[in-house]
Order: sequence, then structure tokens, then C-alpha cells
Amino acid sequence: MSINCAMQYYYSSKKPDIGGHIRVHAQNCVELPDILARIYLGIFPNSNLAVASAREKLQLTRVKVCNCCTDQDLIS
Ligand SMILES: [Zn+2]
Repeated sequence: MSINCAMQYYYSSKKPDIGGHIRVHAQNCVELPDILARIYLGIFPNSNLAVASAREKLQLTRVKVCNCCTDQDLIS
């Protein structure tokens, strides 16, 4: 069993970045927004599912995973 399968909490920012995208962050992300500036999405096994959930929840298509969280599950 790999520890990489561990579920993580994911959050989205409330405000879009300069490119107009809402960013999704894992719980341990260094760029995780302040508690008042983020939206709790839920617990997911990977960032792709968290992004999909954010799109549905926020009714937005311009949602991306944060750069430092991208494919973290796959690389580490
Ligand atoms: Zn990150």
C-alpha cells in the first residue's frame, strides 16, 4: 500500500488569479489561502477529482489546480 493514496482535504480560493482561474489547493499547500479567503471542497484522493468537484460546486469552468499541487499525487 502506498501512502500516496491518502485522501486529502481540498480548498478553492474565492477570488480568481490574474489569469481568471479559481485555484484548487490541497490542505498542505504552501499557497493555501487564508481561512476567510478559501472554500472547503471536501476530501478527495487526487487533485483532478477536487477540481471536478469545484467546477460543479462553484458552477465555474475556469478552475485549475494550484501549480505546486498539480499531479503531486502521481509524482511523489
Ligand atoms: Zn499548491
